[in-house]
Amino acid sequence: MTRRELIQRLARPLERELATGCRDRVVAGGLEKLVHNLARPFPEVIELLEGYAALEPDARCARLREALARLGVAAAPARAPAKTQAPVEEPPATELDAPVDAIPLGPGGPQKMRSLGVRTLRDLLFYYPRRHEDRRTLPGFAALAPGAKATVVATVLSKSQVKTPRKKMLITQARLADDRGHKLTAVWFNQPWVMGQLREGEKIVVTGRYTVRGRVRNLAVEYFEAEGGEQLSTGRIVPVYSLGERMSQAWLRRSVWRALEAIKEVPDPLPEELRQELGLADLDFALRQIHFPESEQHLARALERLKFDEFLFLELRVLLTSGASALVGQIFEVREEDLCTFLDALPFEPTAAQRRVLDEILADMRSERQMARLLQGDVGSGKTAVAAAALYVAARNQKQGALMAPTEILAKQHFANLTRYLWPLGVRVELLTGSMKAGEKKRVYARIESGEVDVVVGTHALIQKEVRFRELGLAVIDEEHRFGVMQRRALLQGRPDVLVMTATPIPRSLALTLYGDLEVSVIDEMPPGRKPVKTRLLTQRSRKDAYAFARKLIGEGHQVFVVAPLIEESDAEVMAEVRAATELAGEVAAMLPEARVEVLHGRMKAEEKDALMERFRNRDFDVLVSTTVIEVGVDIPGANLMIIENAERFGLAQLHQLRGRVGRGGEQAYCILIAGDTSRKTMQRLRVIEKSTDGFYVAEQDLKLRGPGELRGTRQSGLPDLQLGDLTSDVEIIESARSTAKRILEADPYLTEPEHQALKRELQLRGEAVGLREII
Ligand code: ADP
Ligand code: MG
Repeated sequence: MTRRELIQRLARPLERELATGCRDRVVAGGLEKLVHNLARPFPEVIELLEGYAALEPDARCARLREALARLGVAAAPARAPAKTQAPVEEPPATELDAPVDAIPLGPGGPQKMRSLGVRTLRDLLFYYPRRHEDRRTLPGFAALAPGAKATVVATVLSKSQVKTPRKKMLITQARLADDRGHKLTAVWFNQPWVMGQLREGEKIVVTGRYTVRGRVRNLAVEYFEAEGGEQLSTGRIVPVYSLGERMSQAWLRRSVWRALEAIKEVPDPLPEELRQELGLADLDFALRQIHFPESEQHLARALERLKFDEFLFLELRVLLTSGASALVGQIFEVREEDLCTFLDALPFEPTAAQRRVLDEILADMRSERQMARLLQGDVGSGKTAVAAAALYVAARNQKQGALMAPTEILAKQHFANLTRYLWPLGVRVELLTGSMKAGEKKRVYARIESGEVDVVVGTHALIQKEVRFRELGLAVIDEEHRFGVMQRRALLQGRPDVLVMTATPIPRSLALTLYGDLEVSVIDEMPPGRKPVKTRLLTQRSRKDAYAFARKLIGEGHQVFVVAPLIEESDAEVMAEVRAATELAGEVAAMLPEARVEVLHGRMKAEEKDALMERFRNRDFDVLVSTTVIEVGVDIPGANLMIIENAERFGLAQLHQLRGRVGRGGEQAYCILIAGDTSRKTMQRLRVIEKSTDGFYVAEQDLKLRGPGELRGTRQSGLPDLQLGDLTSDVEIIESARSTAKRILEADPYLTEPEHQALKRELQLRGEAVGLREII
């Protein structure tokens, strides 16, 4: 980019601001922020516009004229205010912005809401249900089929608790009656807290398995909740939310209901005309129907609108900020001899794909434009080696490098690898993690600041205030999506070149849509000699075979992963996940009596998880049972079998990533998928994984085969803005949103027109959840 072009880029918004009366409304997020980005080559302009937002309009105009003069651009004479467009008023804050305790929440309510990230009524309405349950017609007890699962509504007649003498099992029982007077007994095992939650005479909604033995009719409860007085939990399609601690579905449901009652009409940021043309429901309808849908059709309309909004704001943001993409970054000299040195020292030949992406990266590093590149490659495709080459070039240019990983154990793994690649070449690599002792950290800080360290590998610890790089030239971010935006921003303050590594196989067309002008490099080839993971699909009936095979491998000294999804029917309960994981571990231990089995679940603290993974790595035990996706990217060299229970509950791309965890030690690795249902659709989907080990092929098939209808995508994208939208199945909505965003901005590049003010405000409100591009 030439100096002239840089000047033009910067002058345009300044002129526009001047022309619209210096109201600081031209740029979402404020003019100063934009200037800070665009004006890096012109410190004299940055200085001039410091504190811009706080100035009076007259002072602002004077500064802008001066700035344009310094850039050698003649300012157009300020137009008289009368001639400018109608003054743009900030839309007034609406009732949506009221704090959430504007509605009655009960004791401790506001804290509970805060634990869900809900502060305003708006936040609450945008806290979507995870799924819905159709409880429009619940069967009476007489209609229940023995052996089948059922949901019923019933009155609690009495309750009791007994302990079985030998097994020491605690049984809670409740005698229930339906509204016809039929009776049965609901039974809970080892859940002492249930006793306190049952009230005699109260109505409850119960889901469980119905059994009949002689005259005894039982319901083994999986899930229950109080019906509440407002008929919100029965007789309709009922929302089911993700809950925090000490809160119930009924409470959250009631709160959302009250919020909807309190708000007359949710204002719609989309101009009416546009909405009509796109055939979208209005926002008020969409928000009411996503929580309390009147029918499946209404729910579908609501979803369509809310997904559209997610993608529209994402696209608007990408397009609005891409103007800042030609930022000046680092300029590196890439010497042929340095490259040779690195490649000679590498213990293997790079693949053609590694060479190609390395060339792409080096071209970015040579140019003065700030590198913003996404490096995609399947697990084990050799991304880290490529990153190491780039870090080496940075070090040879006397610039520092950083590699940030989402967990301690991943950071340690990268540290070991980078040390292996770079230490022999005289590059000083250091590790910095949160769990290090204060004194140790201090010494690392000092070495970073003095430049004694060339490459620092770490976790969030890298972005603490105390870390001051002498000169950060290249930042590599592994599995970027695990980090919050502000955190990344902190690392990127000095405008280093940025390389983001991800193993998520987003089909390329979608990646481009999503990341706007972020460049994408793909490693589409595996290192030679890599043995593909042998994958078999089994059904429940042959589940024992899977564990027999596990037993054999453990006998040979190998380790095994067992992964299971959350149990869908009961996951609304706080302890359900822990229980499900523990139960599965118990089953596994029973099938593998000689094996040492440990369990990992989502409710464990990050440090606990790291410690457990570390012990697994050290072969302290044989089988890791997990109901959470195993820490992405961790190498467990001894593990060469993964058994995935209820594999149909995972997305294909996710299964593929999971499978990538095994065989890291170079031995033949195996993956056994156990299908919990054997419908043709399920088997067809899972066969894709059985047949192919190509991540991109798998992702594309996933896109083809996955029907709509899942309320929440599998969230493989990891984009913080997408609550409902799914990158792989919502292609049509993405395209419609993208073309709409383009049209809006072509007509009104800085969203200054009155009819776009609501849209702009919404964009600002969603500002914290931004796509990747904005921060780079
Ligand atoms: P990723 O980060 O993409 O998951 P890594 O860079 O960690 O992959 O590489 C996985 C393993 O493959 C490492 O043990 C690495 O040493 C090895 N490896 C990387 N590139 C090659 C190659 N071209 N030939 C042989 N082995 C390679
Ligand atoms: Mg890796």
